[in-house]
Amino acid sequence: MIPHQVAIIGAGYAGLACAVELARRGVQVTVFERSHTLGGRARVEAKDGWRVDNGQHILLGAYTELTRLLRTTGVSPKTLTHLPLLLHTPGQLHLEAARLPAPFHLALGLLRARGLSWADRLAMLRLMRGLKKRAWRVDPAHSVAELLRQTRQTPHLIRLVWEPLCVAALNTPLAEASAQVFANVVRDSLGAAASASELLIPRINLSELFPVPAARFLAVRRGKLRTGTAVEAIRREQGQFFLTGDPGRAGYQQVVIATAPHHAGSLLASVGDCERLAAQVEALPTEPIVSIYLALGEGTHLPHAMIGLANGPAQWAFDRGRLGGREGLIACVISAHGPHEALSREELLLAVHKQLEDELGRRLPAPQWSQVISEKRATFACRPGLLRPGCRTPVPGLWLAGDYVDSDYPATLESAVRSGVAAAQQVMRFAARPKD
Ligand SMILES: Cc1cc2nc3c(=O)[nH]c(=O)nc-3n(C[C@H](O)[C@H](O)[C@H](O)COP(=O)(O)OP(=O)(O)OC[C@H]3O[C@@H](n4cnc5c(N)ncnc54)[C@H](O)[C@@H]3O)c2cc1C
Repeated sequence: MIPHQVAIIGAGYAGLACAVELARRGVQVTVFERSHTLGGRARVEAKDGWRVDNGQHILLGAYTELTRLLRTTGVSPKTLTHLPLLLHTPGQLHLEAARLPAPFHLALGLLRARGLSWADRLAMLRLMRGLKKRAWRVDPAHSVAELLRQTRQTPHLIRLVWEPLCVAALNTPLAEASAQVFANVVRDSLGAAASASELLIPRINLSELFPVPAARFLAVRRGKLRTGTAVEAIRREQGQFFLTGDPGRAGYQQVVIATAPHHAGSLLASVGDCERLAAQVEALPTEPIVSIYLALGEGTHLPHAMIGLANGPAQWAFDRGRLGGREGLIACVISAHGPHEALSREELLLAVHKQLEDELGRRLPAPQWSQVISEKRATFACRPGLLRPGCRTPVPGLWLAGDYVDSDYPATLESAVRSGVAAAQQVMRFAARPKD
């Protein structure tokens, strides 16, 4: 055991990834979490005897760090349903990657696709080839809309493929989304090995997927997890950090702030010497995500586990019954800002139920149970040229982790855990530095 006490503030995917990495290397960690539920923005919510996630999440085969951490913490691979890339919008589009190595999985998928003209298919290939030729580098000031215009994408392809993919991956509308981050996502999914573009959909809730196994992993390595404990401020005294709200009142050699950016600002400001960084973190623009759950009863199924919806307000629907959940439970997702924000909860439920009926072309039962979960600051708005902070802060031994920390990726579970692992590496280096 390394004689070094490290505090991690936040038990979301970033904080727990950091804690697992440190505990694995023998560092004693204490994780503070204000909530009684683990997982942060990827957590289970219980209501009326139902347990649903605060939002339906999709993982990609390209999420290499998260899948490694799942293995490290002993999570069975069976907890994720692997689906080959499939974009199915009822009556409009069916594009399914073939079970072949790249790039033939996509080439054959495109050849067999239904609902795309030859002009659409050629436009898609033009975008992919163009990006690859430029080594996936694009003008950092450009939006995705600009990239699609430059590469002459057809309106049909934009509406049915690029727009839903952009909003799903970056949670930012086309006209405002960063072309460079979009290119990075395309590079590491559609442009990589066939397995990288697979969709991995959790069969268990998001708190059980990684946070609970991570907590178990920590418990057997003398790590401490203090749930229901909000850290109000961080104080530095004689080379140690003390946390207001820590019932143990311990001193820590290093601290990792692994909260969402809107909670990190005040913690940074409380330490001193970090006012500019605090202001930068707090100024990050955000986008919402609304999740609508409809329990339509046994016998109700969608044509696939995940389908695209083309005529708003919802963009995607998931058949939880096909994904380890209760039969007939449908999860619908509305990413980013939009006209749906003007609707009341009841109006939104009615609008989404009707949308499903219209797009599936059949009547559906009235919901036996429903739930609308609105995450107002679900992710940062992934805009061109956005200044994201790094892991390092001006205070030695104080680090940042979280999905907003600078990386190639938008705000995702993968960027969250990568930032946590990167923060753990900095902690290890700092602990090993020669003392003066
Ligand atoms: C509805 C929704 C759908 C999404 N869909 C996808 C998807 O399909 N695929 C994907 O990859 N990503 C998706 N994301 C994004 C993903 O959930 C986030 O990127 C990720 O969970 C962020 O993790 P984090 O650890 O950085 O932050 P958080 O999850 O916000 O964790 C921070 C933790 O810190 C705690 N905390 C805050 N302040 C304090 C304090 N003072 N003291 C103690 N604890 C504190 C919080 O309670 C929280 O648990 C989605 C997000 C939402 C909201």
